Amino acid sequence: MVVTGDIGCYSLGVFPPLKRIDTILCMGGGVSMAHGMQIAERMQGTGDGKRRKIVGMVGDSTFFHSGITGLLDISYNKGAAVIIVVDNRTTAMTGHQEHPGTGRTLMGEQTISASIEDFGRACGMKNIATVDPYDLKATTETLRHALDSNEPWLIVSRSPCPLYTKSNVGPARQVNQELCKKCKLCLRLGCPAIEYINDEIRVNETLCGGCALCEKVCKDGAFETARGACGE
Ligand code: SF4
Ligand code: SF4
Repeated sequence: MVVTGDIGCYSLGVFPPLKRIDTILCMGGGVSMAHGMQIAERMQGTGDGKRRKIVGMVGDSTFFHSGITGLLDISYNKGAAVIIVVDNRTTAMTGHQEHPGTGRTLMGEQTISASIEDFGRACGMKNIATVDPYDLKATTETLRHALDSNEPWLIVSRSPCPLYTKSNVGPARQVNQELCKKCKLCLRLGCPAIEYINDEIRVNETLCGGCALCEKVCKDGAFETARGACGE
């Protein structure tokens, strides 16, 4: 598939180990480029004879800034791109500013909290799902379902940025070296806390937010709660 990215902390997904974003152009481009590519792909393929799914990514702040117009065009033009809003409840890349979805103004006063899902419905999207990205199984199933459907989808992947909330998701993890088979699958998560040093996989506990995704991808059960780790 082709994944069109946008401007935000998730733009880092263009680099290894994730390497899962193919384009970054401008704010809102994650939605509008996905739409244009999907229509072009439907008409003439992606140029190499292969049929590809088109997925667009955009952050919550960027969605409100300039992602909504592209979403409306997807409905209007009968497109079929899958759009994922990576909603971490803040404007992370530029310093955790508020935005129209957070319920606070830039001066910190309480105000309206705009709903991404409501904007999706107002734009005519029929398929809208909200997932917790730490629930790997449910998130994967939702993505597979959306990609198989040949219809436009809006998927809101929602969980607050731990750097903004200044709270860990759960207790820190460590690697049981006796169980680790050094398959390096966990390194593909792109978690900054997981290190490969001196031929050992380790967790830097000062960087670990306790999200447990490593436990979910490790088939050998090598991740465990760190000794002396604080609770959630
Ligand atoms: S996924 Fe598990 S077994 Fe593989 S390297 Fe990571 S900790 Fe070790
Ligand atoms: S619990 Fe989450 S943050 Fe900690 S090492 Fe595992 S994947 Fe990284």
